Amino acid sequence: MTLPVLDSASEPTPAPVDDARRHLLDVSQQELTQWLVEQGQPAFRAKQIIHWVFQRRVTDFDQMSDLPKSLRQQLAESFRILVTRQSAATESSDGTDKLLVSLPDGGEVECVLLRDGTRRSICISSQVGCAMGCVFCASGLDGVDRNLTTGEILEQMLLLQSRLGEGERLSHIVMMGMGEPLANLDRVLGALDVARSSDGLGISPRRITISTVGLPPAIDRLANSGVPYNLAVSLHAPNDELRSELVPINQKIGIDAVLDAADRYFDSSGRRLTFEYVLLGDVNDSDESARQLVKLLRHRRVLLNVIPYNPVTGLPYVTPSKRSIANFRQILESGGVNVKFRQRKGSDIDAACGQLRRNRASSEK
Ligand code: SF4
Repeated sequence: MTLPVLDSASEPTPAPVDDARRHLLDVSQQELTQWLVEQGQPAFRAKQIIHWVFQRRVTDFDQMSDLPKSLRQQLAESFRILVTRQSAATESSDGTDKLLVSLPDGGEVECVLLRDGTRRSICISSQVGCAMGCVFCASGLDGVDRNLTTGEILEQMLLLQSRLGEGERLSHIVMMGMGEPLANLDRVLGALDVARSSDGLGISPRRITISTVGLPPAIDRLANSGVPYNLAVSLHAPNDELRSELVPINQKIGIDAVLDAADRYFDSSGRRLTFEYVLLGDVNDSDESARQLVKLLRHRRVLLNVIPYNPVTGLPYVTPSKRSIANFRQILESGGVNVKFRQRKGSDIDAACGQLRRNRASSEK
């Protein structure tokens, strides 16, 4: 499909790559406060600046009308607010918007806004590409290029927030776009600190979900952060043999270690765990797979999200048949597993992660 490339005249102009000014969104509130104090300014100005960017959505220091003019000038000389550019956008008939975001070094990531009733959820990327190599995923096909910075993660949130109409309010954040968030944990946590702060986006951690293939040491670090984010573990298979095929990183970890770490997270956070299971036709959708899943999950307080696969161009996997979906569901429900079957939203706009970036790249070749 042809992707509409947005009129760059309507977009904030990104600073050139050799611009020496710091990215404001990469600077923590503490660092900003310290910088302000060094300029002879009161510490409370940091909150004012953050409020202008995240609540009032301004993209130019000059618009921060309650700051002294001289400070606005100093800020503009030392920092840039935005460094990314929205290079393409698609809107689905079901209310899903998907953006392709260009980074200052030429890399690209995707992020998505999903509308469901009054709920407005955004799905955010944490890395350029992904090293986990899940065999059915477009994002991992070319490996990982680099981690996103805290500011680049926050800019995706701002870009999506700016698409909301009157009366719409951002309600949920899901770190489930391109990349493995726990492989870039410090920067992801830095961005989520701002997302949940009342001067930032003001989203409760109970409405923020971090998705992972299951990296036990990082899950433990997340638990130690003491903030009760929701944890979603992508399982995709009920035994090590199949999981190691579908999620290659599993060869080094194993399902038992992933489940143990998830249990520890539940014990320390008190948040119900979610497990994700992409259902691939004739691969992991057998009755036996469903029975093995029941054994793994029935004694745990979890929600299992089963997502019938969306085919990705160039990959051999197919959507499961209606019959196998019904059988799979029946076995899980009668086994006492709390299960939800989800339809991927935005299926008419390449909403599976990494598809927009790949499709655009191949259309440009
Ligand atoms: S499904 Fe997620 S973890 Fe797996 S390769 Fe894709 S982006 Fe990475």
